[in-house]
Amino acid sequence: MCFRITGWRARAGERKALRRPCDAFTKFIAGHIATGALDLGVNAMSKSGSVVIIGGAIIGSFVAYFLRKEGFEGKIQVIERDSSYQFSSTALSAASIRTQFGCHFNISMSLFGADMFRNIKEWFGPDADIGFEERGYLMIGSAEHAPVQRENALIQREYGANIDILTPAQAKERYDWLNVEDVGIATYGVKNEGWFDAWALMQLVRKEAKNLGVEYINGDVVKLRQEAGRISAVELKDGTVLPCDWCVNSAGAAGGKVAALAGIDLPVEPRKRTIFHIKAPVPSENFPMLFDNSGAWIRPEGDGFICGIAPEMARDPHAEGDYEPDHYLFEEFIWPLLAHRVPLLEQVRIQRAWAGHYEMNLLDHNGVVGPHPEITNFLFATGFSGHGVMHSPATGRGIAECIVHGKYKSIDLSELGYSRIVKNTPIVEALVY
Ligand SMILES: Cc1cc2nc3c(=O)[nH]c(=O)nc-3n(C[C@H](O)[C@H](O)[C@H](O)COP(=O)(O)OP(=O)(O)OC[C@H]3O[C@@H](n4cnc5c(N)ncnc54)[C@H](O)[C@@H]3O)c2cc1C
Repeated sequence: MCFRITGWRARAGERKALRRPCDAFTKFIAGHIATGALDLGVNAMSKSGSVVIIGGAIIGSFVAYFLRKEGFEGKIQVIERDSSYQFSSTALSAASIRTQFGCHFNISMSLFGADMFRNIKEWFGPDADIGFEERGYLMIGSAEHAPVQRENALIQREYGANIDILTPAQAKERYDWLNVEDVGIATYGVKNEGWFDAWALMQLVRKEAKNLGVEYINGDVVKLRQEAGRISAVELKDGTVLPCDWCVNSAGAAGGKVAALAGIDLPVEPRKRTIFHIKAPVPSENFPMLFDNSGAWIRPEGDGFICGIAPEMARDPHAEGDYEPDHYLFEEFIWPLLAHRVPLLEQVRIQRAWAGHYEMNLLDHNGVVGPHPEITNFLFATGFSGHGVMHSPATGRGIAECIVHGKYKSIDLSELGYSRIVKNTPIVEALVY
């Protein structure tokens, strides 16, 4: 049987070729962060005024929450057009977190998220529970890819991640159900990786934001008014006009459309991803988030597993309004690929499938964060392309720092800024999926 995986292999090759420059930039930025010299070129504001946040799921809610944490005392309005959140990426995601990235800021964002998730009660009170299962990603690499994966793991360790580097024999010893015949390397996140309940997290943050005086408004943003090079007000479909000093775009997969309301070109589009919930006779205790080198992934969920794979590029169109699961992916790709890696998966039963949208940044599959260089009171917090839940705490805090202090104070996110879109210079991140 032909599984047609050339597309993914080609993409993996591209990533490998692109990896190095990020490492150099990593060191450059690390030096700047130490001196606190990163100024965003936006005017630091007093802690008053008004902020309108477009999109009230996980990222918008974390922006609102951290604005208050950073001492913002003015008006904060979060506009959400679907208060059921049924189509939000947050509600439909696989809710997993990893530190195995190639760029230091992605690692740092994950480390902050994992620390919050582990200590969720300290942040949100004794009843807070997001079911954080701190179990690592087991990333499988081929012999050909082994040197790159090993080097990445060493860089991840350098930036605080706790990564085991395993030979095929060591991986087999740990996971006796694993087929390692064509494996060259496996890396495992001992700490700061795993999965959680994204819905519960979003509800916690929303509730706490509301307790802190943030107003959630049910409405569809259809127009952004501009005066003197700034966003002066946000207009809703029902005609309501909300004046603002700052406007944040956390509209997820609609991030590109919202930017267009201000005449800004942002290559963020909805791309469909399907998740299958299956039952299989595989021991789930100790089962990690298994990320195969074919691109297929699987992890425990409830009394079964969830799994998925990215479609080939040619079958990955703009997906606005389309939430129909792509059932062909399981039969044609996921099942044969995973059954090869874990032979016990020969016997599976599909329980259900659902599809949500990646807010795909077509330039480089990384988030776009921070102020627009000219319309400086318009801030981006979108485009994460599959890792926005894990990076939502760090993004919310970063945007709040921009607004309240005029610069990043904790993690420098300036490399994720919009100027790379204008210059057409993609971030070189080896490990995006
Ligand atoms: C199948 C799948 C699996 C994923 N797995 C993971 C994972 O394991 N780990 C991870 O970290 N990430 C994962 N992601 C990505 C993650 O879900 C997103 O990056 C994240 O949820 C983005 O959060 P958000 O708040 O920006 O977007 P959303 O949750 O989509 O929220 C955006 C909100 O904006 C609202 N909105 C849009 N336009 C307007 C408008 N004009 N007016 C008012 N409101 C508007 C929408 O109604 C929506 O509620 C996955 C995504 C999918 C689809």
